[in-house]
Amino acid sequence: MSITNATATRTLITGASAGIGVELARECARNGQSLVLVARRKERLEEIAAELRDRHRVTIDTIDQDLAESGSAQRLAERVQGLDVSIENLINNAGFGANGVFHDLEIDEQVRMIHLNCATLTELTHRFLPGMLSRRRGRILNVASTAAFQPGPFMAVYYATKAYVLSFTEAIAEETRGTGVSVTALCPGATRTEFQERANAENMQLLRFGTASARSVAAYGFRAMMSGKVIAIPGLSNKLLRQSIRITPHGVVRRVVRFINGKR
Ligand code: NAP
Repeated sequence: MSITNATATRTLITGASAGIGVELARECARNGQSLVLVARRKERLEEIAAELRDRHRVTIDTIDQDLAESGSAQRLAERVQGLDVSIENLINNAGFGANGVFHDLEIDEQVRMIHLNCATLTELTHRFLPGMLSRRRGRILNVASTAAFQPGPFMAVYYATKAYVLSFTEAIAEETRGTGVSVTALCPGATRTEFQERANAENMQLLRFGTASARSVAAYGFRAMMSGKVIAIPGLSNKLLRQSIRITPHGVVRRVVRFINGKR
C-alpha cells in the first residue's frame, strides 16, 4: 500500500516517546515539519506533541502501537492512511537491545527485537518509499548504531540487527540514488537514553568511555537526513572507531568488544 493522494505532508518518527526519538521530533518540529509520532506510551507521546505544537505551531498526530508484533507495520500504515496525510520523511528510530549471554537471554524477547529493529523498519520503508518515489521527494532515516560495524559478544542479536540496518540502508540508498529520495543510516555510539536500563546494560565497560547526549545525536542525524548523506556517524571517536576496525584483525576486534560489552 502506498500513500499518494493525501494533501498534508508529515514526518513519521517511530520510537518518539523517549531518547533519540524525542530529540529527533524536536529537531523536525523546530525546522517546521509536521509530525506523526509513534511508540507504545500514549501519554508520553501526547506530552511531547503538546510541547511541540505550542512551541513551533506544527501539526502533530500520535499513534500508540507496539511495533515489535507481527503485522504491526501494516496496522501502522493503515492508521496513517486514516489521517489523510502523505509521509514525506520516515524516521525508523524505535529499537531496543539486551545485554547478556545469548543462550541465557529470553528467546521471545530476542525475536521481538529482530522484529522491531529489522522487520518493522524494512516493512515501513517498503510501504512509504513508493509514495516518496512517485512524488520524487522524500527522506528516510534509519537509526543503526556503531554496533553495526562488528559482531557484539554479550549483545549478539542487537549487534546483528544493527548490521542488518546498515547493510539494508546502504543498498536502498544506492537503488534510489538520483530519484529525489534519500536514505540515511545514522550510526550513533553510546548515547544517554533509556536504552541502557532497558537493555540491562547500565554497568557495561563501554559506558566508562563516555556517552553522547541524545540531543547532539539527533541534531547530527537530522542534518544528515536532510542533506541526503548515506552513512552518518556522529562524533570523531566513532568515526575513528570505524576506521580502526577496518585495519584491526577480526579476532582482536571480537575480544575487545567482548570486554567493553562485559560488566564492570
Ligand atoms: P530509548 O530511550 O529506550 O527509546 C526507544 C524508543 O523506542 C522509545 O520511544 C520506545 O517507546 C520505542 N520502542 C521500544 N520498543 C518499542 C516497541 N515494541 N514498539 C514501539 N516502540 C518501541 O532508546 P534510544 O537510545 O533513544 O534508542 C533509539 C534508537 O537508537 C534505537 O534504534 C537504538 O538501537 C539506537 N541506538 C541507541 C544508542 C544508545 O546508546 N542509546 C546507540 C546507538 C543506537 P515506548 O517504550 O513508549 O514504546
